[in-house]
Amino acid sequence: MQTTFTAEQLRDPDTARSNQVLRTCVHCGMCTATCPTFVLLGDELDSPRGRIYLIKDMLESGRPATEAVVRHVDRCLSCLSCMTTCPSGVHYMHLVDHARHYIEETYTRPPAERALRRLLSLVLPYPGRMRAALAAARLGRPLGGLIPGASMTAQRLRAMLRLAPGALPPPSPMQAPGVHRAEGERRGRVALLTGCAQQVLAPSINEATIRLLTRMGLEVVITRGQGCCGALDHHMGHHDPAMRLARANIDAWTREIEGEGLDAVVINASGCGTTVKDYGHMFRTEDPALAARAARVAGLAKDISEVLTQFDYAPTRAAPGLTVAYHAACSLQHGQRLTDVPKALLKRAGFALREPAEAHLCCGSAGTYNMLQPAIAGQLRARKLANLDRTRADLIASGNIGCLTQLAGERMPVVHTVELLDWMAGGPKPAAVP
Ligand code: SF4
Ligand code: SF4
Repeated sequence: MQTTFTAEQLRDPDTARSNQVLRTCVHCGMCTATCPTFVLLGDELDSPRGRIYLIKDMLESGRPATEAVVRHVDRCLSCLSCMTTCPSGVHYMHLVDHARHYIEETYTRPPAERALRRLLSLVLPYPGRMRAALAAARLGRPLGGLIPGASMTAQRLRAMLRLAPGALPPPSPMQAPGVHRAEGERRGRVALLTGCAQQVLAPSINEATIRLLTRMGLEVVITRGQGCCGALDHHMGHHDPAMRLARANIDAWTREIEGEGLDAVVINASGCGTTVKDYGHMFRTEDPALAARAARVAGLAKDISEVLTQFDYAPTRAAPGLTVAYHAACSLQHGQRLTDVPKALLKRAGFALREPAEAHLCCGSAGTYNMLQPAIAGQLRARKLANLDRTRADLIASGNIGCLTQLAGERMPVVHTVELLDWMAGGPKPAAVP
């Protein structure tokens, strides 16, 4: 694709990167067929190719984002299915991240939407605030059906109340800063990202991860100062808060790397993993020492499934006779290109595995998407659950808290993959397993 950026525009590193990305696109349109919003809406402007044209035009013109561009970019899930499909290697993620930041800087959203986005940014990344907000949402849940109107604000409020769980598990002391010693001979030392929303919604995921890794001979450190990876803000175009959160993690893990050393930074929420693995890019224009630290952290970032494979996960219990429908989180299959690794682990653990039709399509979770775009997210959820249901499996396994929350509450129990693997290696049976 030809671009017409001026030399002055290209002095901006983000524009220079977007120019590179745009120039790799040959506008073949192959990506449209696997884009969830194009599949649902059938509008070229809600396809990757359409969005690429809109973003190109917006950036080249240098004018503020228009309402139409914002609408179509907002509808993008950042699922990155288009990156898996694209034969030319277009790095759509960097392009849309830049577009979202540009939109936030040049476009004024309606007041209610601005307030909601600000609220999400102030609450979701912080476990204490998140817990308080969910407690309030639980009280308000019965009133969700009484919120009148079909306006976007009303839809969003109803979606937020619907997503709030009925009850919250108590905080887990295992997630506090500290060191969990390896059992037996120490084979390695890793840091665990305990995350933000996940540690409130499902502390059992971090507990299972710590039990499993320490049993396998890995020392697990929960580093003081680590927290939200920044993805939630990053995907809303909130550049400065996202960088602040990411920077805190880089500083915390750098202290460990330069102290007792780390073999990996383990991440068990794949949405976060995709972002941490991109820290090198996010910080590339910062001062060289910080950029180098960010790249080093990014290089150590591993999904839990990669670490379990590397350290030869082995079950110790007999196969449970359960059939698992594996839901591939977009951030794992498209963002990190980890498709076979989690499935191989589940099979090794003794589960019979089934895969749903349209496994490449997003479930509609996508960070804050299911709150900000509830209608599309709801359609994708229903489609995904129907496909999962047709597998006739006993339960659904996935490697991302967002997907688990999005798919919960229907016929099939939903469990994080690592909880099943921990169970088969001597841990407790996950509460959701029948
Ligand atoms: S498949 Fe790739 S090259 Fe083709 S239009 Fe989509 S992004 Fe561009
Ligand atoms: S990231 Fe997903 S929703 Fe966005 S354009 Fe690509 S395939 Fe479509």
